[in-house]
Amino acid sequence: MVEKSSIAISSKHFLVSYLISYYSCGMLLNPYNDEYFMKQALIEAKNALEEDEIPVGAVIVCKNQIIARGHNLTETLIDVTAHAEIQAITAASQYLGAKYLKGCTLYVTIEPCCMCAGALFWSQIDKVVFGARDEKRGASSVGKSLYHPSTLVVNGIMEKECSDLMKDFFVKKRR
Ligand code: ZN
Repeated sequence: MVEKSSIAISSKHFLVSYLISYYSCGMLLNPYNDEYFMKQALIEAKNALEEDEIPVGAVIVCKNQIIARGHNLTETLIDVTAHAEIQAITAASQYLGAKYLKGCTLYVTIEPCCMCAGALFWSQIDKVVFGARDEKRGASSVGKSLYHPSTLVVNGIMEKECSDLMKDFFVKKRR
């Protein structure tokens, strides 16, 4: 027969181990992880798609808050420089009233091109997170880092969703 006190101890033990596993897992502790913000960038990419633009979307985050959003607008603005990242960098600087994006992270669905990596260099942004690599035009294709030395670059977040959106777009365009 199991005594009441031992049941209380074992359930307490279960609760403690549950809480340890809960708090040691960053995803549960902090819902605002890279995946969460990449989903927001994907929403922007879908907005571009609806406007018949190449579907690339970006958001800039500061202290877990989205301070800027942008998507590719090269057709709409008839401007080859109107990439998602450029839209987001400009909006973030306007929001902060500062040209340097210290303490900020850029999330973008596709790897930044050399132009955008250059703009990100000038912004001195803390972190760049991109979804899918761009083999042809991605900044990494030049063989050396174009980002600021203090910028952390992370890739492969929701890679499939990000690249599928691009593949579908170009398949439909070729029809
Ligand atoms: Zn670009």
